[in-house]
Amino acid sequence: MKLIFEKSVKGRDGYSLPADLFEDVSIADCIPDYALGAKKTLSEVSEVDVVRHFTKLSKLNYGIDDGLYPLGSCTMKYNPKINEKLSVLDNFVNAHPFSPEDTVQGCLKIMYELDKLLCEITGMDRYSLVPAAGAHGELAGVFIIRKYFTDRGEGRHKMLVPDSAHGTNPASCAMAGFKSVELKSNEKGTVNKEELKRLMDEDTAGLMLTNPNTVGLFDDEIQAIEQIVHQKGGLLYYDGANLNASFGILRPGDTGFDITHINLHKTFSTPHGGGGPGAGPVGVKKFLASYLPSPLVTFDGKKYRLTGDGEKNIGRLRAFWCNFPVMLKAYAWILSLGEKGLRNVSETSIINANYVFAKLKNYYRPAYDRFCAHECVITARDYKQYGIKTLDVAKRLMDYGFYPPTIYFPHFKPHAKETMMIEPCESESKETIDQFITAMIKISHEAKTNPELLKNAPHKTPIRRTDEVLAARRPVLHYDDELKLK
Ligand SMILES: *Cc1c(COP(=O)(O)O)cnc(C)c1O
Repeated sequence: MKLIFEKSVKGRDGYSLPADLFEDVSIADCIPDYALGAKKTLSEVSEVDVVRHFTKLSKLNYGIDDGLYPLGSCTMKYNPKINEKLSVLDNFVNAHPFSPEDTVQGCLKIMYELDKLLCEITGMDRYSLVPAAGAHGELAGVFIIRKYFTDRGEGRHKMLVPDSAHGTNPASCAMAGFKSVELKSNEKGTVNKEELKRLMDEDTAGLMLTNPNTVGLFDDEIQAIEQIVHQKGGLLYYDGANLNASFGILRPGDTGFDITHINLHKTFSTPHGGGGPGAGPVGVKKFLASYLPSPLVTFDGKKYRLTGDGEKNIGRLRAFWCNFPVMLKAYAWILSLGEKGLRNVSETSIINANYVFAKLKNYYRPAYDRFCAHECVITARDYKQYGIKTLDVAKRLMDYGFYPPTIYFPHFKPHAKETMMIEPCESESKETIDQFITAMIKISHEAKTNPELLKNAPHKTPIRRTDEVLAARRPVLHYDDELKLK
């Protein structure tokens, strides 16, 4: 497909105005110099050219509106479109962050109530809706931990992070001035308690834990873990990116976590991965509430106000109300589902993942042969003898019309080999999941009988195999053979 610049024809225009529109002024006089300069570098194409070019481009993409997107760890689920509409209603969109509080009581009320709802869902006492992403929520969380210990005159400078953790965990620790110490997983894929006991000392601020963890396994020893950390005076941080596999069933606040963050994108009805805004509210137990970043919304029985400059607060992380439309979607989604609906979401996510796991584990050897939460990890290890790698399976899946799962994660020992992490989410029907399973089983047969088919896959996509390294370092964004696109 050609670049839009290559379609340029000298003198061709998107639209034209009558030359005699104004009596004394020529059109050229109305165009500012900077725009005239830009015009020289823009391609000269008609409206039809532009529409067709970009429509064609958009069809080369694969998104959640096209089909299953089982990218483990990322929670690429379908979200109700009505929540998108709600979030752009005029009254919300036109509310100015400098408006007098009296005129935006409705907006403040929603933020206030969302805080309450998230507390109810997670068993925490107060949320700040300020952070713009999961990583930002973590950063707020570890700043809170650091300030808390500084106030107590404790110089704890280490933080424990499991080897299975999302990369943002150690990064957040480092940004807050902690030394991140890796905690090895046990054979089951969860926290190694002996290691935890050994590492958790008076110089350690605590443990950052994801539960279910990033390989989709629920750590049922959470109570013992909590005791080990708290006995040494540490704090327990909950990375809530996998909350979609536990809300309505178990609350992190009830299992001893002191601080949490939630990814409203991923879990609460904002599409994840579209490059749009997200939100990563950070929630704490009462004894840490005065550390929360401002602004918070308070209510005195009559009026909602933006305040929250709590005496110890870690300061401002963002301007104004932060990503308000994301909050709106979460609020609408929670209210429309209710308590039972939320539980149904996590139960369905768990059932869907275990269904995929049960159907595929005889074809792809599991990394952990045990009941999983909302995502499962299988491997293509047994196809090595045919020269097949996980990458080949993933590429072949595209020929069957599916987005491939996350591959080569987890990559820590002892389960490092040829992994695929599949997260079907709650929003897929049994028919769709069955089609995916059927494709995966077909591919496992092809791996044995016709491995070349896999090695050269995908066969049906506009772009076939790229040199992975070169593609990232020196991208070539067009190719000439238009016919291949059909
Ligand atoms: C996605 C994710 C994060 C980071 O969240 P972002 O919103 O992408 O910054 C942190 N931890 C886990 C477990 C995640 O899956």
